[in-house]
Amino acid sequence: MDVKKILADVEAKNPGQPLFLQAVTEVLETIEEYVAKNPKYDDNKIIERMVEPDRIFQFRVEWVDDKGEIQVNRGYRVQFNNAIGPYKGGIRFHPAVTVDTLKFLGFEQTFKNSLTTLPMGGGKGGSDFNPQGKSANEVMRFCQAFMTELFKYIGPDTDVPAGDIGVGGREIGFMYGMYKKLACENTGVLTGKGRNWGGSILRPEATGFGGVYFVDHMLKKIGKDIKGKTVALSGFGNVAWGAALKATELGAKVVCISGPDGYIYDEAGIAGEKIDYMNELLQTRNNVVAPFATKYPTAKFIAGQKPWEAKVDIAMPCAIQNELNAEDAKKLIANGVQLVCEVSNMGCTADAIHELQKAKISFAPGKAANAGGVAVSGLEMTQNAAHLGWTPEEVDAKLKQIMSDIHASCVKYGEANGYINYVKGANVAGFIKVADSMIELGVC
Ligand code: GLU
Repeated sequence: MDVKKILADVEAKNPGQPLFLQAVTEVLETIEEYVAKNPKYDDNKIIERMVEPDRIFQFRVEWVDDKGEIQVNRGYRVQFNNAIGPYKGGIRFHPAVTVDTLKFLGFEQTFKNSLTTLPMGGGKGGSDFNPQGKSANEVMRFCQAFMTELFKYIGPDTDVPAGDIGVGGREIGFMYGMYKKLACENTGVLTGKGRNWGGSILRPEATGFGGVYFVDHMLKKIGKDIKGKTVALSGFGNVAWGAALKATELGAKVVCISGPDGYIYDEAGIAGEKIDYMNELLQTRNNVVAPFATKYPTAKFIAGQKPWEAKVDIAMPCAIQNELNAEDAKKLIANGVQLVCEVSNMGCTADAIHELQKAKISFAPGKAANAGGVAVSGLEMTQNAAHLGWTPEEVDAKLKQIMSDIHASCVKYGEANGYINYVKGANVAGFIKVADSMIELGVC
């Protein structure tokens, strides 16, 4: 495989799509060696086929706001690769969403879903709609308008969307309600549903829980224990919430969380009712974290900065892509960080990853560490197909097993000279299953 040539082609064919190029570059550079040793992939032009999404839908979403004014947004669904199962992946509502964002996410999702061991292909969708500051009725009208178009392209055995940034249980409810009405069916076409209407227990917590289970495996692998470790999380959405709960339960101390206004450092630890209070801020104040320091005297608010300048043992970016750059990585290393685990998708820049790997810091990519979310989505699909619901113990046991299997796959393909390159391990392991399936399925 000529990585340089393929990347030049990808760049030429996808102008102005730096995120997609970043995601593809990371994968190609880390699977190059494996592909060179296995000529069947080149013979079948697997890489060239894999970097091209199966199809992309783009559509106009029009809706009426509370003032009676018509609003126009753009909606998308990228069906990236269905070699191993129906397209599966979230929907993101965020003003920065473009086709570039969703192509990078759909590409990542293909590898992530392959790692889960479940039969799920990769897809992603979304809109440039900004839910912040919108009333519940506006959000409902938007979700319904979005689904009147999206429903044509999805189905429980073809493409199963879920949540992502800006899309939680409420939005899934509004979209599922409209899908059900349009399609005249009640099936597992979306995951992340409410418990009363087909959702799986533990789905809201799954991404954060899975991330912490993964961290636990990484620490054990280097002879360390999560108990007593200090943790910095970024963001405070659904992902950071689950991570904070599980990290605390396993004996770690979460000292940082962040919002668009800055970050909180609380040496006493952010646990219990403080996590509930963060949720309250999330619901009522658009994620700003400053009020946390007014309420809790042990907490300091650092305006306009990122939590990566704090001295912690473990850093877990949980917010958005490229939220941790090379400068941040250098600060973490200087402060003695022991492990960095992306829980957001592509949370670290390529330069940040290189800094961490150069310093031999244990680093996990989001596509491995945050796969618990989509894995429990896969379990939700299974429960829906069987028309039953599992207990929290059953779902948690399966989630734990899946995270353990993903960790083992990363180690299998990423360990060399006493250091585990989790990026390489995740990319090679994710690649093999999809690539071999594509070969077995023929050129079609
Ligand atoms: N948006 C989540 C992710 O990035 C979950 C996707 C899903 O549950 O389908 O993996």
